[in-house]
Amino acid sequence: MSRYQGARLSTLSPYTPGEQPRDAKYVKLNTNESPFEPSEKAQKLAAEAAGRLQLYSDPTCRVLVDKLAEVYGVDADEVIVTNGSDEVLDFAFQAFCDEDVSARFPDITYGFYPVFAARNGIPYETVALRDDFTIDIEQYFGVGKTIFIANPNAPTGIALSRDEIEQILIHNKDNVVVIDEAYVDFGGESAVPLIKKYDNLLVTQTFSKSRSLAGGRLGFGIGNRELIADLHTVRYSTNPYNVNSMTAAAGYGVLCDEDYTRANCRTIIENRDYTTAALRELGFRVLDSKANFVFATTPAMHGADLYAALKQNGILVRHFDSPRISDFVRISIGTREQMQTLVDVVEKLLTEV
Ligand code: PMP
Repeated sequence: MSRYQGARLSTLSPYTPGEQPRDAKYVKLNTNESPFEPSEKAQKLAAEAAGRLQLYSDPTCRVLVDKLAEVYGVDADEVIVTNGSDEVLDFAFQAFCDEDVSARFPDITYGFYPVFAARNGIPYETVALRDDFTIDIEQYFGVGKTIFIANPNAPTGIALSRDEIEQILIHNKDNVVVIDEAYVDFGGESAVPLIKKYDNLLVTQTFSKSRSLAGGRLGFGIGNRELIADLHTVRYSTNPYNVNSMTAAAGYGVLCDEDYTRANCRTIIENRDYTTAALRELGFRVLDSKANFVFATTPAMHGADLYAALKQNGILVRHFDSPRISDFVRISIGTREQMQTLVDVVEKLLTEV
């Protein structure tokens, strides 16, 4: 820390990203990436865009935004694209919260929410998940605060139905409700169809998971055009060129290959079902996941020990050293071979304890 650091930064605990080892030593099941490479069209268009990098990117990302609007059945001014969905979430904190309008989100959820709040000087409160790790939607009724809910939630993988999201919207007419759908393509129900009915709904999604573009950094928000205009105000006050032209081209390419995305999602769901059943067979408690990961715990080993033992055996998963969930590990769903390896190693470890 330098002696010049401002007061707000000095009290900030930054977000800790999952490990990104640069060798291929590990079966990498720790950051919920797709095990499949980006669609061919995405790769081809990104490579072509590389030859035009002397030019600034289009700050409106017109081609990509129009394509997203077509795919999601909304108007182009109801869409904003960002540098990963982390950025649209950050913009939402800046646009819809301040010292007087605080944020509310679950105690166990995406670890970046408290960081966005703190970095932007926004007060926030957390609401405990129930003992079974589900969200009690009534805790979000009529609270007069900006609500952030990951659906499916992370790292539990548990999803709310669209009807439950609608209940939250009905009871929050005067404040914004942000539904973070980073993992919705793996069996969740998207709230996007509700944006025409509720002008206080912002849905955020990402190309990092189902669309295999985590390294490209591409996310988006869909909501009422006035909400989107507010997010553009933040964007144009931060970085109008927030999505680079190679990524915008890749994003457009993926959207032209929706069959590829859908097929990959089906495979991940099958592999998730396989992994869930196999771990339960080995005595694990595995939460019902609608995401591309499972959250699992075994009475035989503490979460930190299981994480370390798996790492020693060449498998990287994620462990969160936080109250209520430190007994669990989060396991991203990869190819069937990767999941088979995981199950085999877990089985071996359990015979050793
Ligand atoms: N929301 C949730 C719930 C996440 O787990 C993640 C991934 N870490 C994100 C948003 C952000 O993902 P990205 O910035 O890659 O779109």
